Amino acid sequence: MTWVGANKDFLSLLIAMLAIVISFSTVLIGLLNLRTNSFIAIQNVMLSNEMQRGRLLVYKAIATGEAPLPDSDEEYLMVRSLAVFDQLGMLSRRWIVPLRWVLLFWHARLQLLKHGFGVAADPTRPYILGGRPNLQYLVEHAERFRCDQSCCTNGQKERRLMEPPSSAA
Ligand SMILES: [Zn+2]
Repeated sequence: MTWVGANKDFLSLLIAMLAIVISFSTVLIGLLNLRTNSFIAIQNVMLSNEMQRGRLLVYKAIATGEAPLPDSDEEYLMVRSLAVFDQLGMLSRRWIVPLRWVLLFWHARLQLLKHGFGVAADPTRPYILGGRPNLQYLVEHAERFRCDQSCCTNGQKERRLMEPPSSAA
């Protein structure tokens, strides 16, 4: 007890520091959980049948130059899938989902969008495309993304970036 008495101030400081470390760790774990859950939630939307079909229409339009008719259901599906992609970009820019995870999963598809979004900008219908700055942000990061997996080896990445794709999912 003599040692405790003699080192009371030191022990108080130690306990206070320990409390700070625990609080900080709790905040970090909470943040990681929030980002993980947000990523899974947006991924579930991105991978829904409707969104996948919309993206396929976009890739097809980029590859063939044949876009769906204006105001058709297919055009709206394309625009909706681009809007959700844009939302994914916004969540990445705001640190709500980890940009690295987004790029790990989506880089190959995002590289295809370097050639446009499959819908021509139409001044009479600015609401159709509207720029998509957050999606553009993802595309630019995807172009620089380093990957040594099968999606990017044997010149596949270069081909995606050089010319419009012939097929994609
Ligand atoms: Zn890759």
